[in-house]
Amino acid sequence: MNTVKPVQQILPPPPPHMVGNGFRVHNFFPGGYNMGLSRMSPFFLLDYNSKIEFPPSKEAPRGVGVHPHRGFETVTIAYHGKIAHHDSAGNSGIIAGGEVQWMTAGSGVLHKEYHEETYSRQGGLFQMVQMWVNLPAKHKMTFPKYQAITKQQMGNVELPDAGGSIEVIAGQYAGVHGPAATFTPMYVYHARLNKGAAVTLSFPQNYNTGILVVEGSVLINNSATAPADNFVLFKNQGTDIALQAPENALLLVLSGEPINEPVVPYGPFLMNTREEIMQAYQDLNEGKFGVLED
Ligand code: MN
Repeated sequence: MNTVKPVQQILPPPPPHMVGNGFRVHNFFPGGYNMGLSRMSPFFLLDYNSKIEFPPSKEAPRGVGVHPHRGFETVTIAYHGKIAHHDSAGNSGIIAGGEVQWMTAGSGVLHKEYHEETYSRQGGLFQMVQMWVNLPAKHKMTFPKYQAITKQQMGNVELPDAGGSIEVIAGQYAGVHGPAATFTPMYVYHARLNKGAAVTLSFPQNYNTGILVVEGSVLINNSATAPADNFVLFKNQGTDIALQAPENALLLVLSGEPINEPVVPYGPFLMNTREEIMQAYQDLNEGKFGVLED
């Protein structure tokens, strides 16, 4: 029997901090609220750069210089502005327009993340998300890879009565699958709801589930309204989430099967044990993460 998945809490954006000089992010988890390292597992981290205007710049593009990752995936979505990315596996790309870059750091990459050059020169509105998606122990040392997920590739389900659409990035909605290859079961959607639209989403009871309100606002389960820039954390009860849009809204919907393993984060690494963290630093110092020019 389907039952309502209740809201646990609607979380306003915590005070922002800068990542490098290019990303002004609200860290909803794990740090922003004391919800524990695994509360949203397999989603370990959510950094949200709410809307900000960057002035035109003649300097080198803002961003984060060369740094390593191991043991998880970074998922980056740019809603406004453009992000350029390069990694030591030889991949590079530009992220923009609500499209997604799903990078599996796995055994280790070096990468750098910057404002794209033309955007940096012109300046303007900037809004983005970066999530860290954990990998289970057996896949932490998987070969690094990179999935550039364009709008065209996303699953797309039009809602009735011109209500908008569900864009499926990972998992499926109404039998339409998203393109992201993931290592554990999860759902990642963009819900684009037009004013007056209503839709019900269903996720397993035990999946950790949350919604980031990127644009507009949303009425949930006929009871609570979440405004823009808020994150809605759901209880691990019931299955169904009823969404209604009092205005046009864009929601980033996350739901995933928890990875029930120890989590040891340190800096840019996310492993199961302290020994594995030390090994990561040793491998980094020995050049095993490859080479990437600044
Ligand atoms: Mn990074």
